[in-house]
Amino acid sequence: MSLLHPFSKKIIAWYQQNKRELPWRNTKDPYLIWLSEIILQQTRVEQGMAYYLKFAKEFPSVKELAKAENEKVMKLWQGLGYYSRARNLHTTAKTITDNYKGKFPEQHEDILLLKGVGEYTAAAIVSFAFNKPHAVVDGNVYRLLSRVFGIETPIDTTLGKKEFNALANELLDKKNPALHNQAIMEFGAIQCKPVSPDCSVCPLNTMCFAYSKKSVSKLPVKAKKTKVRNR
Ligand code: SF4
Repeated sequence: MSLLHPFSKKIIAWYQQNKRELPWRNTKDPYLIWLSEIILQQTRVEQGMAYYLKFAKEFPSVKELAKAENEKVMKLWQGLGYYSRARNLHTTAKTITDNYKGKFPEQHEDILLLKGVGEYTAAAIVSFAFNKPHAVVDGNVYRLLSRVFGIETPIDTTLGKKEFNALANELLDKKNPALHNQAIMEFGAIQCKPVSPDCSVCPLNTMCFAYSKKSVSKLPVKAKKTKVRNR
């Protein structure tokens, strides 16, 4: 899409006014962005922040993390839960050191092959670090898109994933993918909250399907009661 959709213009304007100051937003270092994304996979921003700062201080580069004792990595992770993330983090740091001479890979397909990295995380790394046009689709994005565009396809199905992914990529500002991705996730997290969002002050309320149809609480639709990643 060459022209920006009004949806995109509005979320970007909102983001510039309302974004939270988060330490991983001030870096283009793919290592630090990857680190923050792994921490945030199953952890809330408030809790993850201290861990991110500890890890970034203790292991300022992928090489430092790779050569750390496993025990030290696990100890630093203590209290965060989902310990496979810490194990994958350490394994992947070693892979990057061995296979890429310690330089974080830049290609989307190479990043996707790293242990512990799925579609969402790969898109986040390539867009935030390298400004490449890959749309992020996390729980916040599913919720926001389903409500604004009135999409009732269950988000936890293959069809739903495909549909939401295609829409997110169509809307993406190809010239500023990092900014657009940050804006769409932050908008979902802060403004279009899961329960009782304040639609009366929402800049999207004139174009929002769910608001006009009074179906905010019914969207997004899930086929099963599975937990979707939600920052
Ligand atoms: S109007 Fe309400 S449901 Fe629609 S995008 Fe805004 S906050 Fe979300």
